[in-house]
Amino acid sequence: MVNRPRVPAEPRRSSRRASIKLARHFGVLIAVFAIAIVGLGFAFLLRRALQASQAMSCANNVTQIALAIESYHATYGHLPRAALLDDEGTRIHSWRTAITPDLAAIDQLYRWDQPWNGPFNVRLAKGLDVHVDAPPTDESGHPMIKTVGPYDGPIDYARPFRCTQPETRSDYHANYFAIVGDRTAWPVDRPLTLDDIGDGLENTILVAESHTLRVLWSQPDDLNFDQMSFAINDPHKAGISSLHGFGPLVAFTDDAVFHLNPKTPEHVVRALLTANGGEKINRNQLLRDGWLR
Ligand SMILES: [Zn+2]
Repeated sequence: MVNRPRVPAEPRRSSRRASIKLARHFGVLIAVFAIAIVGLGFAFLLRRALQASQAMSCANNVTQIALAIESYHATYGHLPRAALLDDEGTRIHSWRTAITPDLAAIDQLYRWDQPWNGPFNVRLAKGLDVHVDAPPTDESGHPMIKTVGPYDGPIDYARPFRCTQPETRSDYHANYFAIVGDRTAWPVDRPLTLDDIGDGLENTILVAESHTLRVLWSQPDDLNFDQMSFAINDPHKAGISSLHGFGPLVAFTDDAVFHLNPKTPEHVVRALLTANGGEKINRNQLLRDGWLR
């Protein structure tokens, strides 16, 4: 047996082990990277799908609101007033509450004998538990709320008035607003009929989406024509806004619902909000220009 000189095997083996280790790390890294890419891709697609479905559900909400207002008009012969006032001129009930019976087949627990923020109604406003033994009656014995019987628990009247987005905390705040003003479909002092809309039903916005106001669903506060921004998604001032890429949803007085392009010029938005502004507007042209979509 020949005594070979001792080969310094250790360092070589350790370097091989190191390179295997490195390759293994590299492989793991590639795998992690690939999984991350695929994951991000899925997350992106999921988010897109979620956003599309939320825009659809938002459009559905706005359509249902427009139809409920039409049904209200058929019953009372005029549009709802943006707010009902008490003798002192304080806003005590919202148009959103007024159309609730036309919107959803749920118990009507709202009490018209107290303001929206009265002791019972404020619980409905915030979605808190309510307890009703039997419908309270007025002096002549007529039930003051339209409910079938005793009720116990919370009730979500806000759902039809809310655009839910992943960024939006689920709460009882409204996202659909009237545009109140002497020149809009919602004057403060009187309700309009559809015949009063001189600019044409297809050229007048009735209800618009906004995420700039913190207003509970039954709170009688809306966008004010004389104070609002006519720029869409204005970060500095209350106005029409949305988290949808296609833009906020708006319902016209003819019940048509569109996305309003966030780049729509302010004079066009303003013209669409007036009921008798006399502006020359044409829906087909707005669609061709891409302001409505
Ligand atoms: Zn929306």
